[in-house]
Amino acid sequence: MAVTRDHLLAWLEALERTYAENRSWLTDLDAAIGDADHGANMARGFAAARAEAAQNAPGDLRGVLQVAAASLIRKVGGASGPLYGTLFLKASTACAGKETLDAAGVVAMFQAGIKGIQQLGKAAEGDKTMLDALLPALGAMRKGLENGTELNVILADATAAAERGMLATTPMQARKGRASYLGPRSVGHQDPGATSAWLLLRAAAETFGK
Ligand code: ADP
Ligand code: MG
Repeated sequence: MAVTRDHLLAWLEALERTYAENRSWLTDLDAAIGDADHGANMARGFAAARAEAAQNAPGDLRGVLQVAAASLIRKVGGASGPLYGTLFLKASTACAGKETLDAAGVVAMFQAGIKGIQQLGKAAEGDKTMLDALLPALGAMRKGLENGTELNVILADATAAAERGMLATTPMQARKGRASYLGPRSVGHQDPGATSAWLLLRAAAETFGK
């Protein structure tokens, strides 16, 4: 099983659909500890990313991810636009010169993207951000790769780890981003960015295996 440029385009289609379907959930989560724009941000950003990738029709893996990164950085304001834009930009660099990705290539792509978010946002695990879903997912991917697990199982395990990480943000006090302004009042609410990050991985698990 190998991931091609067409799989990445299908992933962007799935993400446009996913964020349209979950727009009000993400908005409600952000209304509780932020400014109620995360659903709109993600829906707008990935609608643009999917449309621009279809229009530009980049010929390779790197090109698809680069177009998505540029759309996200341009169309999504706030914290999450540059952060998810960086995920796709660093992921694109990890795909340079590759026609397809095997399991190691997919893990390298996510690793580069997630490290990019860490570098830009300077958040650590436990700060109640998207990284609380993404870092456990990356850990599961690396473990799967070491054990020689098949890519579809690696991605399913990573999605499950992200979901657990997302749920674990509820009792946390936010230390980064807008929610941190609330101090202890941020406790008791699931982080919107950790939720969109889980949805991002779930869409990858669903599309890369086909
Ligand atoms: P804004 O907070 O600017 O309105 P969004 O609502 O779109 O932007 O995104 C909020 C999400 O961004 C948060 O739920 C959190 O997961 C994530 N976030 C905020 N700051 C950081 C950071 N420094 N590092 C990683 N993720 C962050
Ligand atoms: Mg917001």
